[in-house]
Amino acid sequence: MFGPRRPPLPRPDPNAPPEKLSGRQVTRLFGYVRPYWRVMVLAAVALLLTSGIGLLFPWVMQNLVDAVFAKNNAEELNRITLLLIGAFLLNAVFRFVQGYALAWVGEHVVADLRSQTYARLHTLGLRFFNDRRVGELISRLAADVTVVRATLTNNLVEVLGQTVLFIGSLVLMLTLNWRLSLFILALAPVISIGAVVFGRRLRGLSTEVQDQIAEGNAAAEEALANVRVVKAFTRERFETTRYDTVVQSALKAAMRVTAWRSAFGSTMAFLGFGAIAAILWFGGQEVLANRLSAGSLVAFLVYGANIGAALGTFAGLYAQVQEALGASRRVFELLDEAPDIADAPDAIAIERVEGRITFEAVSFSYNDAQASTIEPPDPVPGLAPRDTPRVLHDITLEIEPGEVLALVGPSGAGKTTLFNLIPRFYDPTAGALHVDGHDLRALTLASLRGAIGIVPQETQLFSGTIRENLRYGRLDASDAEIEAAARTANAAEFIEQLPAGYETRVGERGVKLSGGQRQRVAIARAILKDPRILLLDEATSSLDSESERLVAEALDRLMRNRTTIIIAHRLSTVQRADRIAVLEAGRLIELGAHAELLARDGLYARLHRLQFQEDRVPGDE
Ligand code: ATP
Repeated sequence: MFGPRRPPLPRPDPNAPPEKLSGRQVTRLFGYVRPYWRVMVLAAVALLLTSGIGLLFPWVMQNLVDAVFAKNNAEELNRITLLLIGAFLLNAVFRFVQGYALAWVGEHVVADLRSQTYARLHTLGLRFFNDRRVGELISRLAADVTVVRATLTNNLVEVLGQTVLFIGSLVLMLTLNWRLSLFILALAPVISIGAVVFGRRLRGLSTEVQDQIAEGNAAAEEALANVRVVKAFTRERFETTRYDTVVQSALKAAMRVTAWRSAFGSTMAFLGFGAIAAILWFGGQEVLANRLSAGSLVAFLVYGANIGAALGTFAGLYAQVQEALGASRRVFELLDEAPDIADAPDAIAIERVEGRITFEAVSFSYNDAQASTIEPPDPVPGLAPRDTPRVLHDITLEIEPGEVLALVGPSGAGKTTLFNLIPRFYDPTAGALHVDGHDLRALTLASLRGAIGIVPQETQLFSGTIRENLRYGRLDASDAEIEAAARTANAAEFIEQLPAGYETRVGERGVKLSGGQRQRVAIARAILKDPRILLLDEATSSLDSESERLVAEALDRLMRNRTTIIIAHRLSTVQRADRIAVLEAGRLIELGAHAELLARDGLYARLHRLQFQEDRVPGDE
């Protein structure tokens, strides 16, 4: 967490011409609404009815005013008022239907988009996650997806509704008095131009806000996930200040959006009321010249307001759509991220794995990443990606079914990297890996990884119960099988002594268990999975001798009858291995049994003297 800060994902240039991409994005966004088109049609019908009643309203007003002022007709007044109330009631009902249907579609689309984006994240390889921050990805799932919703539903239907009102009002107005209508239309462009200007500005600003939110989430997620480190170094203030800085930037960006939005609102209000005054003035003259009744002038005012409102809404929608496009771009970037490790179209599922692993002239470098639609962070200055050294060089190695191979070598030699090639967390840059003679790239990932068990150095558990954590090894395992696995892993005893036994919650990442207990839970999880190939990264942290014995015993049982590759840190482990592979700077320099390698007096013998010395107690060996 104190490593180089990863830059935020690149933000779209707010000044870039948005249209080309936006067109495709809008179409793509509306693709998500398509499955719910029936509900959308219901919403649209309800909306048409609401708009229709809206158009009726000025006509009723016109008759009302004329009945009262021109004809003095009290009966007509009563009738029209009742009609009005009835219309408003209907209006309320249709509004409800429209609002509910829209929200329904909106929520469904958001849920779909979230599930799809999340599922896509899980198809991506480790390369992708090496370069990203989890908080930022979560922000895309949570915040950005929600912003997108507005465009998809509310906006679409608003555009429809306002278009109906706009056209309807225009036609009705023209039939009443074309001179006044043309006058009103002349005012329209003023409103529209203002709106487009505001819209562009808002789009850029809103992307900035979303970026800042993502940055804040990423900072908080990292600090909270590493809360122990924060406390140990008393860096609470450092972390809160770091978060505050982002929050303040987000606040500033949000306030800029608010300022522009408010200015937009009040400018539109001024223009709208100004237009009403202008209509009153022009219309008043028409009434004075007897070309218009007082009732018609009232109707005009309402039609004029409808038109103004429609234009204002179009403008507001333009701004909102621009905002949502910023957010949707961030979501689509994730959806478009191509997994670098995926099943080949003709991949086969390997059924019964024997466990022969072959490395054939395998070389690997971390920077041969496939092109990603989200740019990776800037390379370290002076070190262009292609200059990055190879981590593994030309490794050729055959591991027999059931063999135990210990990997040793100095830190950074490439042991973990070699490990990670076996479950295809990465593909080799050159050469090939085979399991039982099949090139890994010809197998389905599910069948390959299904045959491999991994017990990492740092056991990572989920925050649920012990039983849930064990069941992660095999989802359909019965309680009896789970308990048997725990017994084999020497874990049953401590689990049964816990107050809630197997139902004990282990805390975030398993913090409520001791290191040795976590390891045994991880071993039990691997036993349940019953893999043919086992990858063990021996923990470097030393346990007390009793825990050590329990873990070692559990590992012995786990390794039985499986091909095992173990990154070994202890003398006892290397001594038990059938063969030892010694890596140095990514090259396989020695291979053989313990005694053989000692006799050769090469790197292994040297490592043995240095690295394993602390294991040796007087009388050992
Ligand atoms: P240790 O015993 O210290 O765990 P190791 O032998 O397992 O070391 P690896 O973790 O395989 O070594 O690392 C080999 C080299 O690859 C190192 O130089 C390391 O800096 C580099 N490396 C490891 N992981 C990555 C990564 N995700 N991206 C880029 N380089 C990496």
